[in-house]
Amino acid sequence: MTKWLLRCTTCGNTWELEVSFDLTKLSSGKLYHYCRYCKRNTFHEILERVDEDGDAELGLSEPRSREGRPLSGPV
Ligand SMILES: [Zn+2]
Repeated sequence: MTKWLLRCTTCGNTWELEVSFDLTKLSSGKLYHYCRYCKRNTFHEILERVDEDGDAELGLSEPRSREGRPLSGPV
C-alpha cells in the first residue's frame, strides 16, 4: 500500500492518504478530497509519496547496502 502526503490548500494541514492510485498522474497536480480538518471536500497538494515497505523509489541520498555493512553517518 502506498501513502501520499497531502496538504490541504484551504487550511494548510498535512495528512497521509492511503491509496493505490498513482497521484502523480493527476494532470492538475491537485486532488479534490475530503479534508478532516475543514470537514468538507477541498483541493490538496500532493507533497510526496510515502512507501510503507521502506523501499524508497524516490532516489533519496541513501545508497543501498546489502553486504551486511552497517550504515554509518548522520541519519
Ligand atoms: Zn483542510
